[in-house]
Amino acid sequence: MLIVKKFGGTSVADKERIMNVARRCIKDYQAGNDVVVVLSAMGKQTDVLIDMAKDINPNPSKRELDMLLTTGEQTSVALMAMAMSMLGVPAVSLNAFQVAMHTTSVYGNARLKRIDTERIRNELDLKKIVIVTGFQGVNKYDDLTTLGRGGSDTTAVALAAALHADKCEIYTDVDGVYTADPRIVKKARKMKEITYDEMLDLATLGAGVLHNRSVEMAKKYNVELVVRSSLNESEGTVVKEETKVERMLVSGVAADKNVTRISLVGLKDKPGIAFRVFDILAKANINVDMILQSIGRSGSKDISFTIPRDACNDALKALEDNMERLGNPEISHNDKVAKVSIVGAGMMSNPGVAARMFECFYNSNININMISTSEIRVTVLIDEKETEKAMNAVHEAFGLED
Ligand code: ASP
Ligand code: MG
Repeated sequence: MLIVKKFGGTSVADKERIMNVARRCIKDYQAGNDVVVVLSAMGKQTDVLIDMAKDINPNPSKRELDMLLTTGEQTSVALMAMAMSMLGVPAVSLNAFQVAMHTTSVYGNARLKRIDTERIRNELDLKKIVIVTGFQGVNKYDDLTTLGRGGSDTTAVALAAALHADKCEIYTDVDGVYTADPRIVKKARKMKEITYDEMLDLATLGAGVLHNRSVEMAKKYNVELVVRSSLNESEGTVVKEETKVERMLVSGVAADKNVTRISLVGLKDKPGIAFRVFDILAKANINVDMILQSIGRSGSKDISFTIPRDACNDALKALEDNMERLGNPEISHNDKVAKVSIVGAGMMSNPGVAARMFECFYNSNININMISTSEIRVTVLIDEKETEKAMNAVHEAFGLED
């Protein structure tokens, strides 16, 4: 069997944990498997490197930043190979260049395009454990790139797909995927299984366990994932196409505080206005999430939308630069808001889920600012202060607790 095992920063944060991971991988190796290990940088090393860069130059070139950040993963893979060899097992560490993991050219947010598997296959044939740097790649200029924060998950899934691995295990510091963040919802329960679509929504909406692109990729290449803890032997959560257990109406609750709402009041009520607004934002490279447009009345209408908080200044500037084109609407923004979402494949065939969520907010006296839905998700925008209360209330209303 070929197994890809990915360990996050906390799992390799110090010598003891590195030895612990080494032993865990060796167990699979000694059971006769081919083992490929993907690692993140140790502990908070990526943040440390970013701080070092900003200390020297508050606005470092993205190319040089990637050059710097990729050293974090290179450190952990080399130390891991040394640890395994101390334990008497042949291992080799490889960086993105040595494997040849080809990405698009965008520094800081590159996408994997193709992975050469020859070098890894050769090393496996020599009966070595192969340890690969997560998070990094090489672009067409032969420069190092990174895949965006949390990107090592995506490296692992891409490798599992390219190598046709039998298993892809993502080890982290939690036991698996929970019905809600257990730090916020004390009664959160670990899920046995979850579908790719549910996981993708949860990851995108702020669940924080997996990089959302890794889930996208797992779905595309049908790589079954197991999310489990590196600190204990607990079974973890399986992420796959179809789950066997009876579908819960709602499988999880997620919150995201990285939101700002912008409102444009008094736009002309005529064709092409929404296009103008979102074209301006698109050209400024701003990711718009929820959108709400009011019904036009006496020739004018309002549009509100949400964006990531750190994009607020850019968005306001882009809009203000185009005031005339927009017909001089009133612009306001609020960054004390949060998105709370429920996700569940069972929603598709069951009406009334949204109503139940809104009823629960009504009972808890939480005001809803905006609503958006998909087949398997309902998201509401509320006052940031109410996030924890809202999550707990919804979690209970849908009977998600233990
Ligand atoms: N080390 C990188 C980060 O901190 C990648 C990862 O951990 O997945 O974002
Ligand atoms: Mg991570």
